[in-house]
Order: sequence, then C-alpha cells, then structure tokens
Amino acid sequence: KLHTCFSTSSTNDLVKELSDGQPGNLTFCLAEHQTSGRGRRGRTWVSPFGSTISMSANWRISEGTASLEGLSLAVGLAVLKALEANGARNLELKWPNDVLWQGKKLSGILLEVHGDPTGECDVIIGIGINIKLSEEQRKGIGQPAVDLYQVCGKTVSRNAVVAQLINTLSHMLEGFSHGGFALYKDQWSEHNAFRGQEVTIETAGRKERGLNAGVNEQGGLLIETETGIKVFNGGEVSLRKS
Ligand code: ATP
Repeated sequence: KLHTCFSTSSTNDLVKELSDGQPGNLTFCLAEHQTSGRGRRGRTWVSPFGSTISMSANWRISEGTASLEGLSLAVGLAVLKALEANGARNLELKWPNDVLWQGKKLSGILLEVHGDPTGECDVIIGIGINIKLSEEQRKGIGQPAVDLYQVCGKTVSRNAVVAQLINTLSHMLEGFSHGGFALYKDQWSEHNAFRGQEVTIETAGRKERGLNAGVNEQGGLLIETETGIKVFNGGEVSLRKS
C-alpha cells in the first residue's frame, strides 16, 4: 500500500502507524514536507516543502534482524538504480548508504527497527532524495549537498523517480530475503566511493585511518591498516575521506 500526505514530522514515524502488520508486506509513505526529518544519531535531515522526495517503507518481517546484515547498503544500491533509471550518471555509494555525486550528498537513508529483534518486527527504511534545492537551502545543510536537477542538468519528474524507487526497492527486498547482501555485493562495489583511497573511520570517538579495501558479503567495510585488514560493521560508524 502507498500512502501520501502533505506534511508530517517524519515519514519513518508515520509509516509505522500505517502498516497493516502483515509479515512480508510492504507499506510505503510519502510526504511533501517533514517537520523533523532525521538522520543517524539524532542528526537533522533537511526536507523543505516540495524540494525533496521523503519516502519511507515499512517491511514487516517475522524472522528477526540477524539476517539483515548489509540491508542498508542494498537499499543504497536500490536508490542509486532508481536514480540511474531516471538519467542520473556517475553516482557513488558512500558506505554504508549515502548516495553521492562528485563527493556531494544526493540521498540519505535511515534504517530503524521496531518490535522484537529476534522475531516479528518492523524494518523501517527511510529515504530522502534531493530533487531541487534553492541555494539557500543547500547552504543550510552542514555538508556538501547536491540535487537531482544539478546531477541531470534538467528537471526530473518526482513521480517517475518514486515509481522506479518502489520498483527497485521491492525487487531488492525480495532478493535480499533469499540471498542477503551477497547478491548485491558486486554491483555495490562498482559504485564504492573512495575505493582504494585513504579514509578515516570514526567509531565511538575513536579514529582509525587506512585504505578503503571494499566490502565483504555481509556488507562490512574492509579497511587496510598498518596492522592488517579490519572489518567495520554499520551502527555507530562514520566514514570520511582522509
Ligand atoms: P554518516 O557518514 O555517519 O552517515 P552523515 O553526516 O552523512 O554521516 P546522516 O545521519 O546519514 O549523517 O545524515 C544526516 C546529515 O546529512 C546531516 O547532519 C547533514 O549534514 C546532512 N543532510 C541533512 N539534510 C540533507 C539533505 N537534504 N541533503 C544532503 N545532506 C543532508
């Protein structure tokens, strides 16, 4: 089911209320405007009226979250494919799931889980895509941001992107529930931003530098350090180019 609304605090919160609670089912929710869109660790996601796509999907699963490793990377890939189908080129994925163009952020993803993480629970997938931001709106964002208008050099239909997004996301979740991230690892790797480059990983205030050596079949990031390869898994970890 697909629900649309004019304004809401966060589509991630609204979609949870709208879900029919049936295992396996997907519920989608779109808003023109989010008054408190959020990123990871309480950060703000800027989604001014009419300038972005703010969409969330609620995926009810019954087998717990243990098999969800790498899901956020696979969602990033599904978003990238939907954007490519609408003409965007040279898109990159910054681990775990930002979509970048020329090093600037075009889309952000926020995954949240509600319910019993060892059994029946709701996996909430929030996706924000910049469609057309004003100069002022772009400057108000704390890091370099870009919109689809700039990437494609022309106006792109939000409806077309949303339709494609529902398509790529539904297909990906279907595949993921059978084969996990391993199915998408090669495609993800083709778009890995900073591959082979010196990066800094920040986890719980600790910083570590090394070479970005790609991802493993669980979606963990491999960093080649002086003391060997280290694997980092999602959660509270941030990746930056050194
Ligand atoms: P991480 O690499 O740890 O995920 P992040 O800074 O990209 O770090 P997120 O939680 O993914 O963090 O996203 C929130 C951040 O994204 C905000 O702090 C802001 O810098 C940036 N941001 C907010 N709104 C937008 C937007 N519309 N477009 C691009 N970037 C945005």
